[in-house]
Amino acid sequence: MTQHPLTQSLGALKGIGPKLVERLGDMGLHTVEDMLFHFPLRYQDRTRITPIAGLQDGLDAVVSGEIRMANVVPGRRRALVLKIDDGTGVLTVRFFHFRQAQVQQLKPGRPINVFGQARWSVNGPDMVHPEYRVDDNSQLLEEALTPLYPTVEGIGQSIWRKLTDQALALLNQSPPEDLLKDLQHPFTLVDALYYLHRPPASAPVAQIREWQHPAQLRLALEELVAHQLSLQLLRAEEKSYKAPAINDRNSRVASFLATLPFEPTGAQQRVSTDIAKDMAATSPMLRLVQGDVGSGKTLVAAIAALRAIDAGYQVALMAPTELLAEQHLRNFNHWFGPLSVNICWLSGKVKGKARVEALSTIESGTAQLVIGTHALFQEGVKFKGLALVIVDEQHRFGVHQRLALTQKSGDNAMPHQLVLTATPIPRTLSMLAYADLDCSVIDELPPGRTPIKTSLIDSNRRPEVIQRVASACREGRQAYWVCTLIDESEHLDAQAAQVVAEQLQSAMPDVSVGLIHGRLSSNDKEAVMQRFKSGDIALLVATTVIEVGVDVPNASLMIIENPERLGLAQLHQLRGRVGRGATASFCLLLYQSPLGQNSRARLNVMRESNDGFFIAEEDLRLRGPGELLGTRQTGMMTFRVAQLPEHDDLLDEACAIASAIANEGSDRMNQLVQRWTADRQAFARV
Ligand code: ADP
Ligand code: MG
Repeated sequence: MTQHPLTQSLGALKGIGPKLVERLGDMGLHTVEDMLFHFPLRYQDRTRITPIAGLQDGLDAVVSGEIRMANVVPGRRRALVLKIDDGTGVLTVRFFHFRQAQVQQLKPGRPINVFGQARWSVNGPDMVHPEYRVDDNSQLLEEALTPLYPTVEGIGQSIWRKLTDQALALLNQSPPEDLLKDLQHPFTLVDALYYLHRPPASAPVAQIREWQHPAQLRLALEELVAHQLSLQLLRAEEKSYKAPAINDRNSRVASFLATLPFEPTGAQQRVSTDIAKDMAATSPMLRLVQGDVGSGKTLVAAIAALRAIDAGYQVALMAPTELLAEQHLRNFNHWFGPLSVNICWLSGKVKGKARVEALSTIESGTAQLVIGTHALFQEGVKFKGLALVIVDEQHRFGVHQRLALTQKSGDNAMPHQLVLTATPIPRTLSMLAYADLDCSVIDELPPGRTPIKTSLIDSNRRPEVIQRVASACREGRQAYWVCTLIDESEHLDAQAAQVVAEQLQSAMPDVSVGLIHGRLSSNDKEAVMQRFKSGDIALLVATTVIEVGVDVPNASLMIIENPERLGLAQLHQLRGRVGRGATASFCLLLYQSPLGQNSRARLNVMRESNDGFFIAEEDLRLRGPGELLGTRQTGMMTFRVAQLPEHDDLLDEACAIASAIANEGSDRMNQLVQRWTADRQAFARV
């Protein structure tokens, strides 16, 4: 059988050597088909000549005229300056880097074509370092819009154009199969590919810029279908492993619940039932539990953990930060201590002899519940009978990290997986990011919570706020004062928090002020948290380390400095540290004026809503998906054509098509995944 021309290696194209093949390979481009699915980021319009009088500020344009004046202007930035006249106006062109040959070449009286970005100033339009041709008026003009491809250093646009020209020629000769041909769509796959690589001069540039052109929609739909299918394949693969079926014969869940001072909410019970059903099966559970801040996800995790432990297995509980992992450790010690569950602590900071000991209790199976951070799935951690992995606050982990931990249980077996998300995820995003997981929602808060009242306050009213905090503390209430990230560095952050803590302490000498940040040792953090919990510290100055999970119900006041620096989801998490008890809670967002329009809109969302789902939707709308999921997951969320939120409304259709294709059991599924996500799949498995 001869090879289809589009599946040939890129090396088969003209003008491409082994070095370039390798570099393109690094970008995930291996075959001619891959080249066709590498789309331009934007386009330049070189299809027409723009009269100088009609140049628009900031837009690229081709101008054709005659050189009227050419001078080398001395000064701090020596420049070769041309005046070009086309009868409608005069364009100034400046070259700050130029050779003597150019000075010779660019003489008054010669016809010239330039292409570049026009800028308007008081002296009329100008261009800096445009491309140019002298004496020939046609060369800069092209028939189609000029595509600009995403690239890396050293691969110029002309190379991309040459390669895609050849790929498009091959596409014409031997079109690939249209895998969605049953779709009633104005564009076929081939037409759409052609259109996006070489849009005709008449193309509606604005529509393309907004990602709404039918050719883009056609390809975006196919890409979303392929993405859904790849997650379904991933899921099918995970589900094909064996997992221990966990029965309730020896379960002490009922007696554990009887020791608690409260009853599980209806939502907690419902979700626990979902989980129990999954864990009773012989294929791994893949379940995501979404629940707003304070909805009681930890209890749901504890119930699942106890089931697995009582059935004779090990459980791993992983948290994204040391502080949160430590809090889980405290919590589970408190809950499971009376049941004599053997709990093992493992974080990156457990070193030397302690580490060796921890690892050996895990390997021997003595440790029934292992709590920790990422260190849990580093090399050298071997479990004896791991049946359940709980990942708390999933939005901070990537999919591959989750998978890495699941590899820990040996060859053909995989533990059950329970993922708890702190941030409620907008529907569109969860459809994209978690389509391989089943989802349960804890849609009810424990009874007796009063909604948090949030206000925006200009930071010039700081002294007033300090007075308010001081008097609240004197009345026996407790408060957080959160200093937001100043820098990427934990060190500077800690320093800044230290300074604030000292200021506040001297402003309210009779109030006991504590300080917590990421640079403290585990023991010191623990000690501070204990003192805050016991009421010994009234005001806790903190960095965003307290963002997730920290639970001190008596704290009812939170000040967040410079909230405009944080995402809404993060603010919602932080704010969720208060409002956990019965007293009315307040959150004061102490912003730095002047506040931009977008920042004000975002902070207003916080003032108006306590609903994590609503806030997450607004966050997505105002900031885009990458920001919301955090950098760890953005890699997974970048598509070639599909855009969020522009293509949100394609998702339902994409899901429906994907299910239909998955059900027909043909090879289309694999072909689509291969075409669109081959490389990403490999990445997800690292
Ligand atoms: P999150 O979902 O944000 O992780 P937590 O699990 O930390 O929430 O629970 C928040 C607080 O609510 C904790 O103090 C927990 O003990 C308490 N809690 C959990 N479930 C209930 C319940 N059913 N009734 C009363 N309080 C509860
Ligand atoms: Mg939690």
